[in-house]
Amino acid sequence: RAKAAGGNRFQLADAEADERAITRHGLTTALPAALDRGEFFIEYQPLVHLGDGTVHGAEALVRWCHPQHGVLGPDRFIPLAEHTGLIVPLGRWVLEESVRQANFWQERHSDGGPLRINVNLSPTQLHHPRLVAETVDVLERSGLEPGALCLEVTESALIGADDDLLKPLRQLAEMGVDIALDDFGTGYSNLANLRRLPVSVLKLDRSFTRGMQQHPADPVDLKIVEGIVSLAHSLELAVTVEGVETGAQAEQLRRIGCDTAQGWYYARPGAPDRIQSLLLADAV
Ligand code: C2E
Ligand code: MG
Ligand code: MG
Ligand code: MG
Repeated sequence: RAKAAGGNRFQLADAEADERAITRHGLTTALPAALDRGEFFIEYQPLVHLGDGTVHGAEALVRWCHPQHGVLGPDRFIPLAEHTGLIVPLGRWVLEESVRQANFWQERHSDGGPLRINVNLSPTQLHHPRLVAETVDVLERSGLEPGALCLEVTESALIGADDDLLKPLRQLAEMGVDIALDDFGTGYSNLANLRRLPVSVLKLDRSFTRGMQQHPADPVDLKIVEGIVSLAHSLELAVTVEGVETGAQAEQLRRIGCDTAQGWYYARPGAPDRIQSLLLADAV
């Protein structure tokens, strides 16, 4: 075994792997009670129009305030929740809470401009038979119009999707709910396939924005993004970019014709009050 041959380094690696497994197990078993105890909370990150810097909406991003480990990001627990099925009640809570919050902003925001709320859906939620009924129910109870809700589904969740999987998304789209293809460009989906999907927004993955970090930006990266944007627009899809960290990136992306952007340059995910003050300030 490598461990015997390699000495301490491997023992250390094993110990770390064991510890990670124990933590993972602990987090997994703690998940259901955490939901009951209200340990989850949502941060909101604004989505901004690249044209004029006004706030278009916000993405809801869930966090877990764990009594021992502190605040955990979704990458630490969403896969576990997905694995155990807790993602269904957790996702329902996120939807309900963020739709309620969006409706509150809508009512408070004096000029009543459209404000969108983006909510992530995991593959298990997508397969859940009550997805459409529950979404309709949440919207009706909150009073938020369906057109203000955007559900984000990752490109990888839809790769090879058959009609059974697409049907609920089509129903939601027909009601006016926007469907966004999240992390676009990281999967290997066939671009021609886009026509078949009931999506109205492409969210370009952060990896594309990263390629623009250098000065001057990598011309090949720019060409690729330009190509995706023009294809998306010809299919009547709006383009959002994630991970905008600098003003230079924002300017490039605006020039290329991307519609909206999200990233630390504008604001990190934060408490709901933050979005409200941005709305009142009109532009980021
Ligand atoms: P995502 O949907 O692609 O969300 C964007 C992620 O990029 C967020 O990470 C956000 O904090 C981060 N981000 C935003 N701007 C920047 C930037 O300028 N630079 C960098 N480096 N990062 C930026 P976060 O909050 O850790 O969420 C990670 C993923 O967890 C999300 O990726 C989403 O797939 C998943 N997730 C979050 N909330 C939920 C939820 O309620 N349900 C489900 N099913 N998944 C969720
Ligand atoms: Mg997302
Ligand atoms: Mg994304
Ligand atoms: Mg992403």
